[in-house]
Amino acid sequence: MDYIVKILEIKDVTHDVKSFRFEKPAGYSFVPGQATDVSVNKPGWEDKKNPFTFTCLREESFLEFTIKRYASHNGVTNLLHQLIVGDSLIIRDVWGAIEYKGPGYFIAGGAGITPFLAILRRLHTDNALAGNKLLFANKTAADIICNDELTAMLGADFINVLSDENNEEYLHGHINEDFLKKEIKDFNTHFYVCGPDKMIADINELLTKQGASPENVVFEK
Ligand SMILES: Cc1cc2nc3c(=O)[nH]c(=O)nc-3n(C[C@H](O)[C@H](O)[C@H](O)COP(=O)(O)OP(=O)(O)OC[C@H]3O[C@@H](n4cnc5c(N)ncnc54)[C@H](O)[C@@H]3O)c2cc1C
Repeated sequence: MDYIVKILEIKDVTHDVKSFRFEKPAGYSFVPGQATDVSVNKPGWEDKKNPFTFTCLREESFLEFTIKRYASHNGVTNLLHQLIVGDSLIIRDVWGAIEYKGPGYFIAGGAGITPFLAILRRLHTDNALAGNKLLFANKTAADIICNDELTAMLGADFINVLSDENNEEYLHGHINEDFLKKEIKDFNTHFYVCGPDKMIADINELLTKQGASPENVVFEK
């Protein structure tokens, strides 16, 4: 089913990420980690569907996406970043992406944090974050989505890795086999992985080798 929803609020999250709050259709609900297919409600764009994840809490009166813009694709994320309050989106029924099954490791690259934002915000609100750790890979510190909020929620259980910037505050490099073996002491737990396809493939291979069964979603090619 298609729902036409008006944008209520747009905020800058990083230099290339914005959050969009928009109307919530009556009876519409989602499980943290779920996504829907989205179109911009403008002539010629109504049938171009791209998936985005709900990042708000289920009980809020609005819905929210947190969307990274890919300037080089000349695609829908570019258009989304030009929208203003009062413009509208078309959303569809929700579909599963990643579901929380218990404490463990969240491993995200870039916009791959969005399903985890929904899950971690839920757990934080429910006072149930203990035992979870977030490993977050980005190019530079300026790319870290919701850095302050995630730091406040997770403290020492929030580990950032930067590939393109040397910064005393953060680890440098990629989330690869060496890194995971150093950071993870027990592979007999839940793993949630979301990010670009190469990163997911590498991490899945290692985790599977260690006997884990990661939940994962490929976000970008
Ligand atoms: C389940 C799921 C949930 C998601 N949730 C979110 C979310 O909450 N927030 C978020 O920011 N992202 C999310 N994503 C990723 C998001 O859907 C894509 O980043 C987005 O659809 C890309 O749109 P675009 O405008 O860049 O390109 P499109 O509009 O898809 O494509 C435009 C043009 O660019 C080309 N193109 C597409 N990708 C590339 C590429 N990597 N390199 C070069 N050319 C390319 C296409 O072939 C096309 O010609 C999610 C993805 C999935 C699968």
